[in-house]
Amino acid sequence: MDYALLREMMVETQLLTRGIRDSRVLEAMKKVQRHKFVPEAMLGSSYDDIALPIGEGQTISQPYMVAVMTELLAMSGDEKVLEIGTGSGYQAAVLSELAREVYTIERIPVLADKARARLEDLGYNNVFVVTGDGSRGLEDKSPFDRIIITAAAPELPVVIINQLREDGIIVGPVGDRMSQVVVKGRKKKGVLVEEFHTPCIFVPLIGEYGWKS
Ligand code: SAM
Repeated sequence: MDYALLREMMVETQLLTRGIRDSRVLEAMKKVQRHKFVPEAMLGSSYDDIALPIGEGQTISQPYMVAVMTELLAMSGDEKVLEIGTGSGYQAAVLSELAREVYTIERIPVLADKARARLEDLGYNNVFVVTGDGSRGLEDKSPFDRIIITAAAPELPVVIINQLREDGIIVGPVGDRMSQVVVKGRKKKGVLVEEFHTPCIFVPLIGEYGWKS
């Protein structure tokens, strides 16, 4: 299978047509090999316009959703980024192409271990995978320039917002268990100014400051 061609087509038909315009994001989406992050049985669907199961009841997000959320982070290349919800590691790899340093937290140890090994194998040496409850953020590495939550929360947890630097941006799906909207917040004078973007459906953020189970 010509995966490079499939990636080109994915960018043309799924991202450009739906309004993704940040050229750095488009280049990263063209470059990161999504097929290395999906289970072998799903290889043929690697560049389809859908989320795919990755085991443990979790998913690798739809390419378009990865692109939308990444574009909303408006990165220039020198950012320290926190991702909550490592999953397969794909979003972290995309962030790695666009930022200085990426910390990513996953609560399910087997997924964290697999993602860490995969990212290491692929040479993403500015990504650090942490196992634990990301609903608390990652206090000891804060403040972050950008934070992305890739699991659905009832609200953006205050404890995480506190780990965002002034003028920093946080993006994540907020809503109930069945449906959410992508929220972007920018910290201005210590207060989060929010915008509401694309409707979406993510698996839940489970933890102390997310859903309880
Ligand atoms: N970003 C991922 C990727 O590129 O494959 C997809 C993320 S998947 C939609 C959501 C992930 O968030 C799951 O792997 C899930 O286990 C994880 N998650 C849920 N609650 C969490 C928490 N409190 N801390 C860290 N990870 C959490």
